[in-house]
Amino acid sequence: MGPPGAEEEALRSPVVQDVLSRDPARVVGAAWTVLGTRDPAVLTPVLTALPAIESATAGLRLGGAPAPDAGHLASALERARTLGRGECLCTCYPGDSCYEPEPEREQARGHVRVEGTATDERQRVDDGVCVCTACGRGYQVEHGGGHHPGWRWTPLG
Ligand SMILES: [Zn+2]
Repeated sequence: MGPPGAEEEALRSPVVQDVLSRDPARVVGAAWTVLGTRDPAVLTPVLTALPAIESATAGLRLGGAPAPDAGHLASALERARTLGRGECLCTCYPGDSCYEPEPEREQARGHVRVEGTATDERQRVDDGVCVCTACGRGYQVEHGGGHHPGWRWTPLG
């Protein structure tokens, strides 16, 4: 539990207001905002407001294809919980079928450094190693292709 007033303050966060709006477009937009940031100013209010968020979004139909947007919301809330556990947010990369970000985009955000990339015949980055800029963990990152158009992040070592 945070200090008194922390929840009231969290409820004033624009991202939290979007998640609580029950407007699917706003909820999904907020989920993507959470998934794209490591900023505690964005994530901490989401963590604080989790009980309110869980009840406001229960049973909410979000749609989404081919990946259901409910999965993106679940991934976004798990990201806030990860911060709450004191774990590095890079631990959200592996095994999350709804959020497997493109390595170069994560690098542009300053979250990882892309090292040792390999390119396929179309010169697109296909395989590489990313190092988390916060904790130094390394990840093997592979482009799925075919039925799995996302990226697979596998911890090294
Ligand atoms: Zn990390």
